[in-house]
Amino acid sequence: MSNKNNKPIYVTSPSLPPLKEFITYLEQIWESKWITNDGSFHQKFEKKLAEFLGVKYISLFTNGTLALITALQELKITGEVITTPYSFVASTHALWWNGIKPVFADIEPEYCTIDPERIEAAITAKTTAIVPVHVYGNPCNVEKIQDIADKYGLKVIYDAAPAFGVEKNGNSILNYGDLSVLSFHATKTFNTIEGGAVICLDEKTKKRIDYLKNFGFADETTVVAPGINAKMNELQAAYGLLQLKMFDEQIAKRKIVDDTYRESLKDVAGIRLLQINVRVKHNYSYFPILVDQEKYGLSRDDLYQELKKHNIFGRRYYYPLISNFSAYKGLDSAKSENLPIANRISEQVICLPIYPDIDKNDIFRSIDVITAKK
Ligand SMILES: *Cc1c(COP(=O)(O)O)cnc(C)c1O
Repeated sequence: MSNKNNKPIYVTSPSLPPLKEFITYLEQIWESKWITNDGSFHQKFEKKLAEFLGVKYISLFTNGTLALITALQELKITGEVITTPYSFVASTHALWWNGIKPVFADIEPEYCTIDPERIEAAITAKTTAIVPVHVYGNPCNVEKIQDIADKYGLKVIYDAAPAFGVEKNGNSILNYGDLSVLSFHATKTFNTIEGGAVICLDEKTKKRIDYLKNFGFADETTVVAPGINAKMNELQAAYGLLQLKMFDEQIAKRKIVDDTYRESLKDVAGIRLLQINVRVKHNYSYFPILVDQEKYGLSRDDLYQELKKHNIFGRRYYYPLISNFSAYKGLDSAKSENLPIANRISEQVICLPIYPDIDKNDIFRSIDVITAKK
């Protein structure tokens, strides 16, 4: 284990901005003593971020989960909301925290995003909204989802936590639906240590979201709604500004890792790779592989353990499915008969290590274990 060729490799490793530049920003914050509540770094970061992402309005948050909870509050979503079980648990927890009943619809196998036909089949008189997830940064079928939303008068809130920088047909994926939510958690392609944002299409909505994330205060004495405290602080915003400068280079590095895995694993029998839609500018946030036990010869869990033995810590994103956690498995829509594709893929998936500064040798360590099957 002390051998450097056997050092642990984790599924991700956060990129940090140059410490010296961050210290310069910290000195300015110390000088001003303005450490949170819409300070100058917060304002600058919001502006730069909107430009960078190609979106109209963005409100910064302390994390992605509170951003999603607040987005649902902003649109006053109640009743039932149709969502995917194939995501990080926070997608559904945010519904639960708003007293909303989650209704799970199955995914389509190609990109692992929610299947629009299954959304339509799950609509009832109580349905008020759809919360699809751009899982792995793969854009949902945004056109079909919008058609369904228009037909039935539903709101659409995208959990776009993994989709920072993703574009479809040259347009930011964040410009679809009523609202989109990002996460800047340490494990994401773009991080502010912890952080998040809500993206909206008009100034009035942004203003309301800004009130909601600050207890509902519109001014010193006016509270417009029972808000929460979900503000991003100045240190996170300063850190985020520095991260923005690094992002394009990091995506280029991630693409090289993605290309290397793809090229080396494309012909391995029983290993399926998710393709990238030709109309999509991707962010290479994850590298999922699907293990078909019969064709590959080992089960997903056998391969997962084998990688671990070689000190390679892939992650089974997303296993267990959200619908299989005890909090949700009593729901009718959580039954596995309703979610055959999500259940199958959840039993097959391993996400391989991918991050900008991963060693080339470390990429091949994973590849060698997978191709050797032992
Ligand atoms: C990371 C993530 C979240 C939660 O974001 P936090 O910033 O960690 O609160 C929600 N949904 C999805 C799909 C995620 O990947």
